[in-house]
Amino acid sequence: MKEVICVHCGATNHSLYKQFSSDIIKLTKCEKCDNLVDEYVETEYSIIVIDMLLLRKEALRHVLFNSNLKVAWKLIVLYILCDAYEKMASQKHFRNKTLKSDAFINELELNFYFMCIKSFLEYFIFATLVVAILYHSQVKSAQRFSSKNLFHSIVLASYGKLFMLPVLVWSKDDEYCEVLIILFIFLSQIQGIRVTTKLSSLIIAIMLIVISELGYLLLQYII
Ligand SMILES: [Zn+2]
Repeated sequence: MKEVICVHCGATNHSLYKQFSSDIIKLTKCEKCDNLVDEYVETEYSIIVIDMLLLRKEALRHVLFNSNLKVAWKLIVLYILCDAYEKMASQKHFRNKTLKSDAFINELELNFYFMCIKSFLEYFIFATLVVAILYHSQVKSAQRFSSKNLFHSIVLASYGKLFMLPVLVWSKDDEYCEVLIILFIFLSQIQGIRVTTKLSSLIIAIMLIVISELGYLLLQYII
C-alpha cells in the first residue's frame, strides 16, 4: 500500500481515509500529531491553489506527497517558454524594432529558439545541482528523502515563473513587479525544499544563492 504524509507534521501514515460504505468516508487522524492526515482531499482545487500562493506547507505537502503529480514535465516546458520570452523581451535590440521585414522575423524566431535552449540549460543545471548536492549530503541516520520528491518540489515551487508573462505583457517597464516575482520564486523554492528535506530556511537560502551563482558561471562557460 502506498504510504501518505501528514500535511501538518510530515509523518508517514498508512492511509488518508477509511471507507465504510459507498457513502461513508472518514478522514484518518495522524498517528503522530493527532490532526487529520490530509483534509485537502476534501477541498476544492481553487482553495489548494490559494494556499499554495500563500506558501502554506500543508498545501505543498498535499500536492507533493499525497496527490499524483503528473504535470512536472508540462510545467517545465511552460517555465522554459515564459523564461525564453522574458529573456527576448528584455533585449534592447528587439524591443526597439517593429516588424518590418522577413529577415527580421527570421532573426526574431531564431533568437527565441536560442533563448529556449538557454532557459532549458539554466533550469536543468539549477535543478540538477540542487538535487545532486542535497541528496548526497543527507545524514545517513536521519529520515531520507527521495531525489524524485526533491525534483518535484523544485519544479512545483517554481510556478512563480509563470507570473512573469502577464507582467511583461501589461507592465513592461515595472521593475518592482519583476523583483517581487523573483523574490516570490526564491521564497517558494525555499518552502518547497524545506517541506521535502526538513532543512532550515537559512541553510536552503544560502545553498540556493550559491547554486544559482554556480549555475550562472557554468552557463557562461557552456554558451
Ligand atoms: Zn501529523
